[in-house]
Amino acid sequence: MTAPLFDDQPGAVICRAYGSMSRAAVPSKHGTYCAVLDLAPLPAQQESDHATVLRGAAVDVGDRWAFFDDLATAASFARAGRMSNLTPSWDLFEAAQVRAYCPEHGGEELALLLGRQVYERTELRTLANQFAATAAETLSWSS
Ligand SMILES: [Zn+2]
Repeated sequence: MTAPLFDDQPGAVICRAYGSMSRAAVPSKHGTYCAVLDLAPLPAQQESDHATVLRGAAVDVGDRWAFFDDLATAASFARAGRMSNLTPSWDLFEAAQVRAYCPEHGGEELALLLGRQVYERTELRTLANQFAATAAETLSWSS
Protein backbone atom coordinates (compact mmCIF):
# COMPACT_ATOMS: atom_id res chain seq x y z
CA MET A 1 0.00 0.00 0.00
CA THR A 2 1.27 3.45 -0.80
CA ALA A 3 0.45 6.08 1.78
CA PRO A 4 1.68 9.61 2.37
CA LEU A 5 4.74 9.77 4.55
CA PHE A 6 4.09 12.21 7.32
CA ASP A 7 7.36 14.09 7.04
CA ASP A 8 6.60 14.96 3.44
CA GLN A 9 3.49 16.86 4.45
CA PRO A 10 4.01 19.45 7.16
CA GLY A 11 0.37 20.51 6.98
CA ALA A 12 -1.09 17.01 7.07
CA VAL A 13 -3.13 15.78 10.00
CA ILE A 14 -3.33 12.12 10.94
CA CYS A 15 -7.07 11.72 10.46
CA ARG A 16 -6.75 13.02 6.88
CA ALA A 17 -3.48 11.32 6.01
CA TYR A 18 -4.26 7.87 7.36
CA GLY A 19 -7.88 7.73 8.51
CA SER A 20 -9.43 6.40 5.35
CA MET A 21 -6.91 3.56 5.10
CA SER A 22 -7.14 2.43 8.69
CA ARG A 23 -7.88 -1.06 9.97
CA ALA A 24 -9.68 0.24 13.04
CA ALA A 25 -9.62 2.78 15.85
CA VAL A 26 -8.32 1.18 19.02
CA PRO A 27 -7.47 2.43 22.50
CA SER A 28 -3.91 2.51 23.84
CA LYS A 29 -2.25 3.77 26.99
CA HIS A 30 -1.30 6.98 25.20
CA GLY A 31 -4.78 7.57 23.79
CA THR A 32 -6.80 6.08 21.01
CA TYR A 33 -5.14 5.23 17.73
CA CYS A 34 -7.36 6.91 15.19
CA ALA A 35 -5.64 4.82 12.54
CA VAL A 36 -3.82 1.49 12.44
CA LEU A 37 -2.45 0.60 9.04
CA ASP A 38 0.18 -1.29 7.10
CA LEU A 39 2.78 1.08 5.78
CA ALA A 40 6.16 0.08 4.43
CA PRO A 41 8.66 1.58 4.48
CA LEU A 42 8.02 3.12 7.87
CA PRO A 43 8.86 6.80 8.37
CA ALA A 44 12.08 7.56 10.24
CA GLN A 45 12.04 8.45 13.92
CA GLN A 46 11.71 12.22 14.22
CA GLU A 47 10.41 15.05 16.29
CA SER A 48 9.32 18.26 14.65
CA ASP A 49 6.91 21.09 15.36
CA HIS A 50 4.06 19.33 13.62
CA ALA A 51 4.60 15.64 14.34
CA THR A 52 6.45 13.09 16.45
CA VAL A 53 7.37 9.72 15.01
CA LEU A 54 8.52 7.05 17.46
CA ARG A 55 9.97 3.86 15.99
CA GLY A 56 9.53 0.54 17.72
CA ALA A 57 7.41 -2.57 17.45
CA ALA A 58 3.77 -3.53 17.93
CA VAL A 59 2.02 -6.73 18.98
CA ASP A 60 -1.54 -7.61 18.04
CA VAL A 61 -3.39 -8.46 21.24
CA GLY A 62 -6.86 -8.80 19.79
CA ASP A 63 -8.95 -5.69 20.32
CA ARG A 64 -5.89 -3.52 20.87
CA TRP A 65 -2.21 -3.10 20.03
CA ALA A 66 0.72 -3.13 22.42
CA PHE A 67 3.45 -0.71 21.31
CA PHE A 68 7.08 -0.95 22.47
CA ASP A 69 10.00 1.30 21.67
CA ASP A 70 12.16 -1.80 21.37
CA LEU A 71 11.76 -4.81 19.05
CA ALA A 72 13.41 -7.33 21.40
CA THR A 73 11.03 -6.40 24.23
CA ALA A 74 8.02 -6.71 21.94
CA ALA A 75 9.25 -10.10 20.67
CA SER A 76 9.53 -11.41 24.23
CA PHE A 77 6.08 -10.09 25.05
CA ALA A 78 4.63 -11.87 22.01
CA ARG A 79 6.51 -15.08 22.80
CA ALA A 80 5.33 -15.12 26.41
CA GLY A 81 1.79 -14.27 25.29
CA ARG A 82 1.68 -17.31 22.99
CA MET A 83 2.40 -19.45 26.04
CA SER A 84 -0.58 -18.00 27.91
CA ASN A 85 -4.25 -18.92 27.81
CA LEU A 86 -5.13 -15.81 25.77
CA THR A 87 -5.96 -16.27 22.12
CA PRO A 88 -5.18 -13.19 20.03
CA SER A 89 -2.76 -13.66 17.12
CA TRP A 90 0.23 -12.15 19.00
CA ASP A 91 1.49 -11.06 15.59
CA LEU A 92 4.64 -8.96 15.85
CA PHE A 93 5.46 -6.05 13.54
CA GLU A 94 8.13 -3.41 13.26
CA ALA A 95 6.10 -0.27 13.81
CA ALA A 96 5.99 3.48 14.18
CA GLN A 97 3.75 5.55 16.36
CA VAL A 98 2.89 8.95 14.90
CA ARG A 99 1.53 11.75 17.07
CA ALA A 100 0.38 15.13 15.79
CA TYR A 101 -1.92 17.95 16.76
CA CYS A 102 -5.04 18.20 14.62
CA PRO A 103 -6.41 21.74 14.38
CA GLU A 104 -9.58 20.36 12.81
CA HIS A 105 -10.48 18.16 15.80
CA GLY A 106 -8.72 20.34 18.37
CA GLY A 107 -6.53 17.65 19.91
CA GLU A 108 -3.62 15.29 19.53
CA GLU A 109 -4.09 12.38 17.20
CA LEU A 110 -2.23 9.11 17.23
CA ALA A 111 -1.63 6.61 14.45
CA LEU A 112 0.05 3.22 14.52
CA LEU A 113 1.91 2.28 11.35
CA LEU A 114 2.82 -1.36 10.84
CA GLY A 115 5.91 -2.32 8.83
CA ARG A 116 7.54 -5.70 8.35
CA GLN A 117 5.98 -8.61 10.19
CA VAL A 118 8.52 -10.56 12.25
CA TYR A 119 7.61 -14.23 12.32
CA GLU A 120 10.73 -16.24 11.51
CA ARG A 121 11.56 -18.54 14.44
CA THR A 122 15.31 -17.91 14.40
CA GLU A 123 14.86 -14.15 14.48
CA LEU A 124 12.24 -14.37 17.25
CA ARG A 125 14.52 -16.59 19.32
CA THR A 126 17.46 -14.21 18.86
CA LEU A 127 15.33 -11.23 19.92
CA ALA A 128 13.96 -13.03 22.97
CA ASN A 129 17.48 -14.01 24.04
CA GLN A 130 18.62 -10.44 23.55
CA PHE A 131 15.79 -9.21 25.78
CA ALA A 132 16.52 -11.85 28.44
CA ALA A 133 20.18 -10.82 28.55
CA THR A 134 19.32 -7.12 28.86
CA ALA A 135 16.68 -7.78 31.52
CA ALA A 136 19.09 -9.91 33.57
CA GLU A 137 21.68 -7.15 33.40
CA THR A 138 19.17 -4.52 34.49
CA LEU A 139 18.12 -6.66 37.47
CA SER A 140 21.68 -7.22 38.66
CA TRP A 141 22.36 -3.47 38.43
CA SER A 142 19.39 -2.47 40.50
CA SER A 143 20.08 -4.92 43.36
ZN1 LIG B 1 -8.29 15.24 13.00
